[in-house]
Amino acid sequence: MITVKKVNNKIQKQPLKGMVDNVLEQFNSAADQINLHPSIRKILSITNTEIIVNFPVKMDNGEVEIFQGYRVQHNNALGPYKGGLRYHPTVDIDAARALAMWMTWKTSLAGLPYGGGKGGIQIDPSKYSKSELERITRRFTFALADNIGSEHDIPAPDVNTNAQTMAWIADTYMSTRPPAERTANQHVVTGKPAGSGGLEGRDRATGYGVFLTIKFWYESHNKSLKNKTFIVQGFGNVGYWAAHFLEQEGAKMVGVQDAYGSIQNPKGIKVEDLFNYTKANKGSLIDFPEAHQVEKDDFFSLECDICIPAALGNQITENNAYLIKAPLIAEGANGPTNVEGEKVLLQRGVTIIPDILCNSGGVIASYFEWLQNRNGELWQMEEVIDKLEKKMKHSFVRVSDYAKKEGLDMRTAAYCIAIARIEKAYIQRGIFP
Ligand code: NAD
Repeated sequence: MITVKKVNNKIQKQPLKGMVDNVLEQFNSAADQINLHPSIRKILSITNTEIIVNFPVKMDNGEVEIFQGYRVQHNNALGPYKGGLRYHPTVDIDAARALAMWMTWKTSLAGLPYGGGKGGIQIDPSKYSKSELERITRRFTFALADNIGSEHDIPAPDVNTNAQTMAWIADTYMSTRPPAERTANQHVVTGKPAGSGGLEGRDRATGYGVFLTIKFWYESHNKSLKNKTFIVQGFGNVGYWAAHFLEQEGAKMVGVQDAYGSIQNPKGIKVEDLFNYTKANKGSLIDFPEAHQVEKDDFFSLECDICIPAALGNQITENNAYLIKAPLIAEGANGPTNVEGEKVLLQRGVTIIPDILCNSGGVIASYFEWLQNRNGELWQMEEVIDKLEKKMKHSFVRVSDYAKKEGLDMRTAAYCIAIARIEKAYIQRGIFP
């Protein structure tokens, strides 16, 4: 039983464990559940490769700044490493390790021929001009050099990186290959702009997948999304698209939090209105006229049916899980709920659709983009959406059925399926030499 410490009727916030401890605890509990082979537990508990690069970039004022970038390759038993690049002040080697591990479980669960990797640069991109960000990205790509590659390690967008960032990476990578290899290597990254090797629909794929898992959950409980209320933390790529599709299905957005502030309106916040407002307001929702400001720490206590954390890791913890009113949490972000926070929620009967299932639409669409590039094809939006929906449904049903059959929560069930697939590959192939 988790108890919350109160002093003078105020909650005492507990110091939080790091994300690596969190992902390893989740992994070990599933490994115990499936009685994972001890050698494979050892292999999966560590990362294969960790790369730290320091590189200089000329700023607009002519001065040179040094940046630190990371790429962690956790495991490639099932195929090339796959995972995003994040530009954020919280990026460090530990965060990259944890996020790379989550990618291994996610790609395995989705049945993709990929392993897991993650990386990024420890910067606040809002402090740099577009041309500085371009030079930072290109120089980072150059520094990573052969540590990434279309059949080796394939980055994608994550927090504060987007299709433009991917286009710069692809261009730099291809420009530094020998002439005969240049055009054959555009699938070194996915999430590129449609028109430069990108996939129609990749922009919305993660948020659409988040929406689908919520819809599947409602359908499996014979309920409709009509007039259901939701709150979303993070109104970027994932949060916006998830909200967009939920609203289309008749649900109502009643609260939003981003890096700048939190707002609520129990009567509803129009998704496109907020999107247009944030676009015109440097990405911030501050002073959006059709809502009231809320204190940051009160955000998760807003009344709603669905809570969607779609920003950073370690957001729902033992310090605030008891505040959550929603009976359903759909993890758009990677690692938004820590182990202690999850215990509180599960004790209270809250369902969590875990990140490695909920936000897997992004990497599934990335796989489609990679196939499209590799085969020299161009896929249409309808085809992408249709294929994505089928794959998400398959994963959702497998996880739900497994959870029911074994009496587990959805996260442990998802981990069990993901880890068992990697175990099987190791057992079939053995360990070199
Ligand atoms: P993004 O950069 O497009 O948007 C991030 C949003 O989070 C922004 O609205 C930002 O203001 C907000 N934010 C940042 N710090 C915050 C804080 N401390 N509190 C509240 N809000 C904060 O990023 P994204 O691509 O939407 O990624 C969001 C999450 O989804 C990340 O955890 C990422 O790893 C995960 N994810 C993304 C994808 C993808 O395809 N982009 C795929 C799978 C998972």
